[in-house]
Parts: sequence; C-alpha cells; structure tokens
Amino acid sequence: MTRIAFIGLGNMGGPMAANLAQAGHDVQAFDLSETACAAARDAGCRVADSTAQAVEAAEVVVSMLPSGAIVESVYLGDDGLLARLPENTLIIDSSTIAADTARRVAQAATHRGLRMIDAPVSGGVAAAAAGTLTFICGGSEADIDAARPVLGAMGKNVLRAGDSGAGQIAKICNNMLLAVHMIGTAEALALGETHGVDPSVLSEIMLASSGRNWSLEVYNPWPGVMENAPASKGYQGGFMVDLMHKDLGLALDAAQHEGASTPMGALARSLYALHRQAGHGRLDFSSIQSLLRAQTDADQSPGVDHST
Ligand code: NAD
Repeated sequence: MTRIAFIGLGNMGGPMAANLAQAGHDVQAFDLSETACAAARDAGCRVADSTAQAVEAAEVVVSMLPSGAIVESVYLGDDGLLARLPENTLIIDSSTIAADTARRVAQAATHRGLRMIDAPVSGGVAAAAAGTLTFICGGSEADIDAARPVLGAMGKNVLRAGDSGAGQIAKICNNMLLAVHMIGTAEALALGETHGVDPSVLSEIMLASSGRNWSLEVYNPWPGVMENAPASKGYQGGFMVDLMHKDLGLALDAAQHEGASTPMGALARSLYALHRQAGHGRLDFSSIQSLLRAQTDADQSPGVDHST
C-alpha cells in the first residue's frame, strides 16, 4: 500500500484514481470540480480540500491535468506543490503537455531533491476505466522503475522513451500519427461510399489489405460499422476533438522548435481546426468523418467538374 496524492479527477484522472484505490493504495484526491471529487469519494478515495492538503504525507503524487499552464501553476511558485513536498517524493505527471514544460517542472523538482517523471498515457477513457492504459515515460530508469508499481495499477504497459520530456515527445508523435490515419481512414470510407460500396464491407476489405490500421481495427469512424465505437454513439465519449487539436498543436510546436517538417501533421491540425470551428470540439475525434463525408457529398453537387 502506497500513500498517493492524485490531482485532477476528470474523464481520465477519475477512473485512474479509482483503480489505484481499488488496488489497495491509500489515495488522497483533489479536483476543482465538486462533482469529480464526489465521484472519487464514491470510488474509495479520500477527498482533500486543496492540492496542498492532498499531498500531506504522500509518498507519490500523480497529476492528470488539462494543460501545461495548469501543471506549472500547480507545481511551481511559492505556493506550488514542489515547495511543500519532502525530499525524495516521487512525482508522476500524466497530463499531455509540451516537452519543454515537462522538463522545466522536472528540473525544478530535481533542484528541490524530488524525483519527477513525465508519463502521459495512450488508451483513452475506456482504457483508463479498465486499467489498461499505456504509460509513455520520460525520466531516469530508476525513477520510472520506482513508479512501476503505481502505474501498474492503472495500465498494462509502462514504456520508457528516454530522459525527462521524452515521454511527451513520444506521446505527441503517436497522436500525430493517430490523427493522420484516422483522417485517411475517414476519407477512404467516404470515397467508397459515394461509389456505392458499403462502409462495413469496405472496412472488412481494408482490414484484410494494406490499408489496415488501428482506426479500422478498433475505432471505425463510420456510424454503425462498429457497435462500441464512439461513431455508433453519436460521437459521444472517447477522445475530444479539442484535445486532439491541442496535441497536434504540441506536435507542430515541437517540429518548429527543431526545424522539422511535419506536413501531414500540419494538414491534420488544420482539418481539426475547421471541425472545431464548426462547433464539434467536444465530440470524439473520429467525428472528423462528418467533415469529410459532407465535403464528398458536396463534390457530387451540380457545377463540380469531375473530369480533371
Ligand atoms: P478533463 O478536462 O476531463 O479533466 C481535467 C480535470 O482537471 C478536470 O476535472 C478539472 O477540474 C481538473 N483541474 C483543472 N485545474 C485543476 C487544478 N488546478 N487543481 C485540481 N484539478 C484541476 O481532461 P481529461 O480528458 O481527463 O484529460 C486530462 C489529460 O489527459 C489532458 O492532458 C489530456 O490531453 C490527456 N489525455 C486525455 C485522453 C482522453 O481520452 N480524454 C487520452 C489521453 C490523454
């Protein structure tokens, strides 16, 4: 049993904290949202009145917050958690944030004699609830090994990408690829459908062919093809367009920082920006299907020259 402080009990953090409590850890949790705190209490966590109270006597701190600015505000500064924690406390930040921010906070932690790793996750809300997340970690091997018993109660894979910040880089590379193959899958399904090929049949064919990919395997974007996918539930739940847009922004910032070229990532971000502007920011990211389907339908309208 480890005494764990858990900060940020949203769509992901709520079920992650619940799994830690269920595994027998002593979890003291905090979120700004009273609803989220009440759900954590029901799931077996003790609920604190503030971040400061949550970390009292904690051996390990886990945070799952929406943005880098919030992570900095929670940890840094005179009132930040780094100033309160006893030496050698292990901090695991699982938020998806810029690698630079992760490194800055980890350096400040090291300066105070604390241990910190970045451990963003892949897997989404369903995997958070099932305890099958993949943790993509950056930090020293020793610190990541020390975190394994805690991470193991929330996920099935703990992978080390490299030193501090490398977990965030690997995570955004993965999400950039995810966005690109989701958009490609949606585009192929829309094209097939305009020519009368049933999207379910086309999906089966592409799954048995070289177009096979994760979106087709477990997250088909066409409504009705896959019973449990967000597409068949009005694109509710899952991984929001707003968060994918944020992650693509982090990928492009990282590319710009090193002068790298990421044309597919840039196009993907632009398409997700268009989709958000149309008011779909809170839908699951596979709803990009509706954008591509509408465009393909529009191409069929009179006045569009298909001869070239
Ligand atoms: P969310 O918005 O549902 O939850 C964030 C929670 O943090 C909220 O409950 C909010 O009240 C709380 N919070 C904000 N500021 C706080 C503060 N100062 N102190 C305490 N609590 C505070 O977001 P989420 O979907 O749980 O995502 C969290 C992180 O995980 C993000 O960085 C996201 O990119 C990443 N992520 C999300 C998914 C997903 O499928 N939702 C998948 C992988 C990674």
